[in-house]
Order: sequence, then structure tokens, then C-alpha cells
Amino acid sequence: MKTVGTFESARWGSVTILRGHYGRANGPTAIQLVAEDGEPLATLSVNMYRPDCSHDSSRLPADCFYVKTWGGNEELAEEAMRSGHFVLRADLGLAHSGHVSAPAWQVTDGGAAGRAFPAVVTMHCPHRTTNACEAHARTIRALYSRVWGMGIAASTAPAGAQCDNCVNEAAAKAGAEAAS
Ligand SMILES: [Zn+2]
Repeated sequence: MKTVGTFESARWGSVTILRGHYGRANGPTAIQLVAEDGEPLATLSVNMYRPDCSHDSSRLPADCFYVKTWGGNEELAEEAMRSGHFVLRADLGLAHSGHVSAPAWQVTDGGAAGRAFPAVVTMHCPHRTTNACEAHARTIRALYSRVWGMGIAASTAPAGAQCDNCVNEAAAKAGAEAAS
């Protein structure tokens, strides 16, 4: 298995993302999440196949996989999506199996090309610091100005940063679709 990257989990600390394949060397993408001490935490991917499921993992584009967002994976899946190592591929639809529905995600290389929601500024709000795209920076500035009559200091976003609001919206949308 190859290491995709790491992310911080509130519950599990530093989590490493490992990438392998189901079945054979060129089989569907499989994603494992491992704790700092090497303990396996979760399998983030789920192998879908017909006729038991509505879709086939082996038919997905390279780097894509169906995500197991249920069965104890809820929190880790959300944190993994925020990590910037994945993007939601809503265009690929949901794979259904029994009562569960799995969205498709794509593994990114973490570079600018792989960032779905590049942030341009880091905004230093009174209670937290948030990375924002142009549009969300405008929204945040307008909100603070209207509600508190104050301006927000902003600096250039670090390389590879994603807009927190865009990522949250995508994760919420993926969760809602998976639940429906
Ligand atoms: Zn945004």
C-alpha cells in the first residue's frame, strides 16, 4: 500500500491514509486509515459490485472509490474529506447496496490541481482563523461588518490550503446525499 498523506483527527490524532487495490494490482482503489502506532482504524472505501450493488467499483475512473460513510466511519470520513486529500465526485453519483448509499471520492495529489476549493486568504476572525476562497472571504467580511461593525484582518493563505466553508458545504452535501 502507498501512503497518500496524513490528517488530524479530533479523536484519533494523526491518521495516515494508505492506498491499495481490491483483488488485483490494477483492481479498484482501496483506502485504509491507520493510527500513528500502525493500528488500523477504518477502511474508508467500500467495494461495490453488480448485481448486489447498483454500481461497480471496477468501473470507476482511476483514483476514484466509493466511500463507506456509515458503520462507525462517519467522523473519520468527514475529517478525511476536510484533509484536502480527496474531492467529492458528485458527477459519478451514489452507489447503493441494500440500505446504504456511498458517494464517490477521488484521491488528489494535494497539489493545486487537486484542490477542489483553493483558498486565497487566511482570515483572522476573533474566535478562529479560517481559510477562505474569494467568495467566502467576501461573505465573511460582509457578515462581520454588518453584525459587529468590524473589519477582519486577512493574510495570504498557505500553499495547499482549502476554503473551510467550501469544504464544509461539500461534506454536508455528501452526508445528506449518503443519508437519503
Ligand atoms: Zn469558499
